[in-house]
Amino acid sequence: MAVEGRLYRPVIDHETCGRCAVCRGACPAALLPEQRRETDSLRGRVFPVEGQASVAGWPPASTAPNCREGCPLHQEIDQIMHLTAAGKVREAAVLLRSRNPLPGVCGRVCPHPCAAACTRGRVDEPLAIHLVESFLAAASAADAAMAAELRGRAGAGRREKVAVIGGGPAGLAAAHYLLLHGCRVEVFEADHQPGGLPAQVIPAFRLPAATIAEDLDFLRQLGLQIHTGIRFGRELTWEQLQQHGFAALLLAVGTQRPRPLAMPTAVGEENGRLDCREFLQRCKNREELPPGRHILVIGGGNAALDAARAAVRLPERRVAIVYRRRRQEMPAAGEEIEQALREGVELITEAMPVQPVVKDGRLAGLVCCRTTAGTGSETPPALLPDSEFTLAADLLVTAVGLQFDPTALGLPLQLDQEGRAAVDPVTRETSLAGVYAAGDMVSGPSTIVEAMADGRRAAAALLGRLRTAGESV
Ligand SMILES: Cc1cc2nc3c(=O)[nH]c(=O)nc-3n(C[C@H](O)[C@H](O)[C@H](O)COP(=O)(O)OP(=O)(O)OC[C@H]3O[C@@H](n4cnc5c(N)ncnc54)[C@H](O)[C@@H]3O)c2cc1C
Repeated sequence: MAVEGRLYRPVIDHETCGRCAVCRGACPAALLPEQRRETDSLRGRVFPVEGQASVAGWPPASTAPNCREGCPLHQEIDQIMHLTAAGKVREAAVLLRSRNPLPGVCGRVCPHPCAAACTRGRVDEPLAIHLVESFLAAASAADAAMAAELRGRAGAGRREKVAVIGGGPAGLAAAHYLLLHGCRVEVFEADHQPGGLPAQVIPAFRLPAATIAEDLDFLRQLGLQIHTGIRFGRELTWEQLQQHGFAALLLAVGTQRPRPLAMPTAVGEENGRLDCREFLQRCKNREELPPGRHILVIGGGNAALDAARAAVRLPERRVAIVYRRRRQEMPAAGEEIEQALREGVELITEAMPVQPVVKDGRLAGLVCCRTTAGTGSETPPALLPDSEFTLAADLLVTAVGLQFDPTALGLPLQLDQEGRAAVDPVTRETSLAGVYAAGDMVSGPSTIVEAMADGRRAAAALLGRLRTAGESV
């Protein structure tokens, strides 16, 4: 913020202002009205005070700091950082946990878009927001009084019950929102543990089981009821839930079906191919894997990197990633790629698998073709003629994306053109009345924080509908 003309008159330089609010604490004139309680001077008119005109151009369209804008959850990162810096750790943790049901998980594996937006990054490097998040999550993990305080804020309880299907980031965020707004909510999860993909597939060297357990324990302390080992569509139906008094259903079952790998000859699990989700689950649960020395991972996203980094930790395995575009076009986080290379994973870019080599019914190699680089992310790269080469391969791990599988739910849900669950963008209702949906099953593969933000949006729309229905009764 520059000071121009009359003494203390602040002029916001929109080119450089990141709305980080550091000026609030740093300004020796303590110019902000809410701090000075002054409403009738130029200084007092910098920020709008009720009934007064504001300085031209301020506030901008969004007054939220860049980090908060960058976070899909719109977490109050600026305030959390200020409170933590001031030693008000408990207040900071309350703010964090009021919006984010999985702060420990996010501290570890969120791609932290907040840091990418951090104003400080323009000077040297972004603030380490994720480390503060991890610290606050750990510091408050066992704070039963904090859980009681948050629960107490929910106010008078609503009589309607809501069932959330799926205990992943989207489902937990929806349930957390509904719970903290006074709803009676129960989560039904097919797996033996909640947590969704982060719990099921993200390797422990990136996300320790204890971190997930701490987040889930806090949610239970909040009073969230999570039933595990119940698969909706098999052990439970919408009709049964309605008979048990549930007024609404929120589906957040994620994506389950691996996208097929475009190759003329299919390689099945029996002869040496595993989907990355299955592979990571087996690694995590220490289950048996197909024998062999050479593991090829196909794909360039975070899932491919997780698979390669888990594979390279197995004894006596050589691991390579095959990706069709250039390294700079890989969707995976740059630091993950660096780590994988340091750990001994080979990276083969601008290459596409075209044909498996099968000997005695088992995979023995993979014929690949060079691709044209730099064709942009919209069009698939073309194969270069006469550029074939063969890689040794005993196991092919495919990480080319997951899709929503509508068949397992037993509901006649309408799908969009991409095969995702179709929802009304405003009401968040699916094609079935009273049935809402959120997370990856609606958006396609995303990230933990995006899935949580979507869960909250759907829960807010659902709650709005319940309130309207309640008022009209
Ligand atoms: C290998 C891999 C690594 C990843 N790494 C990261 C990362 O580092 N950072 C990041 O931000 N994102 C990462 N992601 C993406 C992230 O995990 C997902 O975007 C996010 O988990 C989606 O949340 P969700 O709640 O929509 O779905 P999910 O996490 O898939 O949760 C859905 C839940 O529903 C349950 N369920 C399914 N069917 C039923 C049913 N019929 N009845 C009851 N329950 C059911 C499932 O068991 C699951 O627990 C990764 C994804 C993969 C595959």
